[in-house]
Amino acid sequence: MATTISFFEQVNRYFDSAAALTDHDDLLLDVIKRCNGVYKMIFPLKRDDGSIEIIEAWRAEHSHHKRPTKGGIRYSMAVNQDEVMALSALMTYKCAIVDVPFGGAKGGIKIDRNRYSQAELERITRRYTFELAKKNFIGPGVDVPAPDYGTGMAEMSWIADTYMAMNSDMVDALGCVTGKPLAQGGIRGRTEATGRGVFYGIREACSYPDDMAALGLEPGVEGKRVVIQGFGNVGSFAARFLSEAGAKIIAIAEWDGAILDESGLDVAALLAHRNETGSIMGFPGATEIANSMDALELDCDVLVPAALENQITVANAPRIKAAIIAEAANGPTTFDASQILDAAGKLIIPDAYLNAGGVVVSYFEWLKNLSHVRFGRLEKRFEERAYRGLLQAIESSSERRFSAEEMKVLAHGATEEDLVESGLEDIMVDAYQQMRDIRERKPECPNLRTAAFVSAINKIVLCYEELGIFP
Ligand code: NAD
Repeated sequence: MATTISFFEQVNRYFDSAAALTDHDDLLLDVIKRCNGVYKMIFPLKRDDGSIEIIEAWRAEHSHHKRPTKGGIRYSMAVNQDEVMALSALMTYKCAIVDVPFGGAKGGIKIDRNRYSQAELERITRRYTFELAKKNFIGPGVDVPAPDYGTGMAEMSWIADTYMAMNSDMVDALGCVTGKPLAQGGIRGRTEATGRGVFYGIREACSYPDDMAALGLEPGVEGKRVVIQGFGNVGSFAARFLSEAGAKIIAIAEWDGAILDESGLDVAALLAHRNETGSIMGFPGATEIANSMDALELDCDVLVPAALENQITVANAPRIKAAIIAEAANGPTTFDASQILDAAGKLIIPDAYLNAGGVVVSYFEWLKNLSHVRFGRLEKRFEERAYRGLLQAIESSSERRFSAEEMKVLAHGATEEDLVESGLEDIMVDAYQQMRDIRERKPECPNLRTAAFVSAINKIVLCYEELGIFP
């Protein structure tokens, strides 16, 4: 009889296969792998109709090798202790892969958010924050949540407000959570950060001619046929950036079905349609696929699972036709399915790297909150004046004349948005190159995922060594 492997065990299997390629102390590897702390809470919710309901919630802090710990909060009926532990572990490795100085954490509340009014969701979120604060599981130097599946800016805003009310004299209190609205210390570019990072990661993977030739593909994102599962925050922004770069989004799968258009879906029009009707189904001109899971098996170049974990399993992996599986969601491919895809010669861009854009820009937001100043605020005008001076020097020493429009573009000082975008791009490109280098240098390293874990393990080990805990 087939045994079910828990999500946390799946993550640990990935860890073990990478750890086997290193020569670090076994005990130290075990320390890294284990989850440092889990807080399970139960609290009552008074519903709008006066009835009382019991709410179950968790926060897991996987690794305290760096503080604060960092990770999103999800609202879903599938939330359980194993899931938050697994996701918190992925956060630890993710932060290490992209060199963001946090330990990993994750939280979850077991609710179907569609069953609750805004006022009820606010009460749930504020109470959850209060419970975290009571046990020192939240704070700018302790543990900093962020949005994840089923949560967004509104929840982050309630969390910040509750924490600040409890810590009114703490100057850095706003740094207790990221993904906040701009007016509450949020940062430009956070909402689209994960989807943008997914795009940078796919673009980087597609930029190596040898890697693409091995998959029978041309280099570059342009013209790639893409299927995306999940049209939420991550999936919809990834769709937008990929299609802006010339990829064709041929299909999108949601919980209630999938739509297909070989000529490429118009992402902006689909978003408008979904906003209007509440579903991607019924989109004019698209063919409908009743069983949403069938979309994963469509003939395409890039498959982007951007919904939930455990979507590609041994049951459907042999039928996946995409040459590239770009894991925008956390844990979309089981360990065994991953091996099937490897054996079939597919390129998996691993979740712990690919969806790191959210935590990278969260890191920028946290830095902004601690420094109490918007990025670019001090230097923008200075830069513009210096660039204009240079352009004027070129004009006075040559025949070249710049139009007012050219001046505006060339003498543009970096805004917060510019800096966030370029910082994210640089980090995603750099981390991909690090992973790829490890894969190339270690012939026994079977794939990018293992390389990503090796990269993370080496960095975390270094941190423990520097702490002097392990020799
Ligand atoms: P979201 O709630 O905004 O979107 C998820 C989407 O998936 C929704 O549109 C939902 O209807 C759809 N969905 C649910 N079940 C589905 C099914 N069976 N088939 C197809 N679609 C389905 O969540 P999100 O923030 O976009 O997160 C998606 C994934 O990305 C999660 O795994 C999350 O952990 C991961 N992630 C998110 C972030 C972030 O910044 N939001 C960062 C890193 C990783």
